[in-house]
Amino acid sequence: MAGFFDGLKGALAAGRQPFAPGQYAVEGRRVTCPHCEGVDFAEGSAQLNTAGMTFLDLDWANKSAHTLMCAQCSRTEWFGQAPERL
Ligand SMILES: [Zn+2]
Repeated sequence: MAGFFDGLKGALAAGRQPFAPGQYAVEGRRVTCPHCEGVDFAEGSAQLNTAGMTFLDLDWANKSAHTLMCAQCSRTEWFGQAPERL
């Protein structure tokens, strides 16, 4: 986690807002929350190469996934490719 917080500090030092919600598209389609139909998401990422994933034979999924957390209801969507911020 140290790397995550170092990165966060760097982002804050640069004056950006890494968790500011925004609208995203994947494969040209705008991402919409399936629960509340919200369109604003906070982008994040998660490591997939955990022991659990290895057990499930998902090593091919590899390294990290992109997550979009709904700004309204907090439902989180997972993507294997980077969402495009609109
Ligand atoms: Zn939602």
